[in-house]
Parts: sequence; C-alpha cells; structure tokens
Amino acid sequence: MRLRPVVVVHYHEISLKRGNRPRFLRQLARNLARAIADLGPSTLRQRPGRIVIDLDGHPRPEAVRDRIQRVCGVASVSLGYRTSSTLEAMQNLVGRLVEGRAFGSFRITARRAFKTYPLTSVELNRALGAFVLQRVATRVDLEHPEVEIVVEVLPDEAFVSLDRRPGPGGLPVGGSGTVAALLSGGIDSPVAAWRMMKRGCRVVFVHFHSVPYLPDTSQAKARALVERLTEWQYASRLYLVPFGEIQREVVLSVPPPARVVVYRRLMVRIAEAIAHQTGALALTTGESLGQVASQTLENIAAIDAAATVPVLRPLIGTDKIEITDEARRLGTFETSIEPDADCCTLFVPAHPATRMTPAEAEAVESRLEIDRLVETGVTGAVLETFEFPADRHGGPEMAPGPPTCSEPPRQSRSGPRSPASPI
Ligand code: ATP
Ligand code: MG
Repeated sequence: MRLRPVVVVHYHEISLKRGNRPRFLRQLARNLARAIADLGPSTLRQRPGRIVIDLDGHPRPEAVRDRIQRVCGVASVSLGYRTSSTLEAMQNLVGRLVEGRAFGSFRITARRAFKTYPLTSVELNRALGAFVLQRVATRVDLEHPEVEIVVEVLPDEAFVSLDRRPGPGGLPVGGSGTVAALLSGGIDSPVAAWRMMKRGCRVVFVHFHSVPYLPDTSQAKARALVERLTEWQYASRLYLVPFGEIQREVVLSVPPPARVVVYRRLMVRIAEAIAHQTGALALTTGESLGQVASQTLENIAAIDAAATVPVLRPLIGTDKIEITDEARRLGTFETSIEPDADCCTLFVPAHPATRMTPAEAEAVESRLEIDRLVETGVTGAVLETFEFPADRHGGPEMAPGPPTCSEPPRQSRSGPRSPASPI
C-alpha cells in the first residue's frame, strides 16, 4: 500500500465569518501556497471546512507542516495520509501507521464532514479503536492519550494523522487591510506588529534612526526584526527614516520635559504620511499603558491628537512578562535585547513629562516648522523590501477552485530559515 502524504489545514475564525468567508479563505489559500513555495511540488485543494495540501512525491512533508504551522489563520495542521473513505481503507491505513510503534495509550478522534456516512463518529472511533487494540499492546485514554489518531472522513476520501498540531489562529495576513507599524529596536513593537498580522493585517514597517548622530545599529536591528517578521507575511516594506536632524531642531526650541511627546507626535505624523503612500489605514505602536513614564493616558492622548488615522496599540493591556514571552516565541527577543542606541536615547531628557495635554504640545510645537520637519522625514525615508521564502521556484499548484497567487515577485532580502518555535 503506497502512502499518500497530505497536510490538512483547519481554520477556526474564518469559519465564523459569513459573507466574508470566501474572501478570507482565498487569502488563506494564497498565503499557504506562498509559505511553502520553495519547498517542492504540491497541490492545494479547498474541501469543506479545511484546506488539503497533497504532497505525493514531495521531498519534505515535515518542512511543509512546519511552515504551515506558522501561517496566520491556521487553527491546526495535521501531517497525515489520504485514503478512500471506506472503513476497510481507513483500517488498513491506521494499521500501517501504528505498525511497529509502541505507545502506552491512544485515542481515535474521528470526524465526518458529512452526516450521511453509514457510521457515526462514535461508531468510527469504536471500530478503529478496536482495530488498533488488536495490533498494539496499549490502552485507550480519552483525556491524555500519548498518541491521538485523527481521522477525517469526507464523501470521497479520508485523512488519518498521528500528528495534529496547533497553528497561530487568527486571520490570514492580507484579509484585514494594511497598517504601518512604528518599529523601534525594542522588545515591544515587533510583538505589536505580529499581533496585527495575526488579526489579518499586512504590516508596513517604519523605523526612525539617528545616523549620523548615532551608529547604525538600530537600523541593523530593525532589518533583522523585519526579516524575522516577514516569515509571517511573506513580503515586507521597511522605511528607514532619518530622525537625528529633526530631533536636533526639537532640542533647540522645545524644553526638555516636553521633548518625548513632541518626538512621538512627529513620528506619528511622518509615519502617517508614509501610511498614506502605502495604502495603510492605521498606525500601530508597541506602547503598553504605564510601562514607562512617557506611556501615560495623558501622553497617549496628546500623541493621538497629532494623528488623523487611528493609532492601534495591541499591547496596551499587557505587561512586560507577557510581551517578553511572546517575543521569545516569535524569535524576535534575541535581536531586541542586543545593545544599541536608537533615536530615543538621543537628546532624551532625564525626566520626561508624564502628563502633557494636546494644548501644551501644540504650544511648544508652535516654535517649530512642523510641516517642513515632517517633509524632511518623509522625503529622507529609504525603502527596503524583504521576501520570504526567497526562492519560490517549484511552488504548489492550485487545484481548480482556490485562486492563484497574484502578488508580484519582489526583490528578495530574506531567505528560508529553519523554523522557529511556533507561537
Ligand atoms: P519598544 O520596546 O517597542 O521600543 P518601549 O517600551 O521601549 O517600546 P518607547 O521607547 O517609549 O517604548 O516607544 C514606544 C513606541 O514608540 C514603540 O513601541 C514604537 O512603536 C515607537 N517607537 C519608539 N522608538 C521608535 C523608533 N526609533 N522607530 C520607530 N518607532 C519607534
Ligand atoms: Mg523603545
């Protein structure tokens, strides 16, 4: 009996959508195809409630699974095998998969995608479970099985897997529009950007640096962070904005306590102009309420008063431990803690104001040529593009039904890397 490997992808939140479900599903299929484009030949098929990736003859099914496990919108992924939907065929396949294996306990989790199948799920569990017990010295444990045998029955085919794993959940990147993320070299903003990706947003990155007043380490960190985050959205744009000269002008006319809020208001205005160019409808930052002296409600209100688009702060209600844990799982933490001096360490007062009103901010800004400073930042911005995976030759075919990937190829900066731990 020849084994026919498949990866079966389940989604959760997308299935709750009504009118928008086809659109989100098309986006998910596109992203899945993109995520595994360099790994070898495969075919994607939309089936009721799931997407199936046929991997007959594929050289690296495990690598496909690992990539799929990191696609936003995926609730779970199973690397398994395909057979016909008769009980006999399923038993043969289960027998083949447990052959020669030793495990102390197991359970069968059978699901029928259509209710006219002659056996109920419970009957299938029993029939397949009894079959396993005849072949392996083991026992059934429904609560904490050592091995879970997942069986999915469709009218014309069935899938059996001993390897179901959780995905990140959420929505597929690209389904919810674009946001511009203010990306520092710190721990928080990469996590905030990732959270927006998980809500289906494509993220454009904006980093403010102070070259030549400071070394270019912060840019290197921003690039490394974007490279890592591109693994979740496949193509990224990073705008590197020279901010040192702008800060120098702020220092000349704004009293020290007001400077941090003025810097942030300028960053927001510049990022907003870049957002408009890129079709982004909102900004996102890594601020968390009260985490540092400058992140008070008053200051946040004063910063937002300079914005004309929404400023989203996905970490606002989280604490540093939660953010750090997520940064570790994402693989951004190690880069974020590398020492550097970003623009926030340049010309920063020892005691920033913690309660600035929009009116106070406007009063001190009246001494600055705000429009010119914003223009300087926007025109000085340098764009870099990133792509993952770098080599997309030999990617999956789309079976009739799912759409083909329509995104144009971009200049590549980032290549495939070994999978980090899924989040
Ligand atoms: P992070 O870890 O993200 O740097 P933080 O806790 O250090 O955050 P701040 O330095 O006060 O907080 O920055 C607050 C937010 O402002 C950041 O999360 C980021 O979104 C934005 N920001 C700060 N510095 C920069 C920068 N140099 N370039 C782009 N955005 C920045
Ligand atoms: Mg910071």
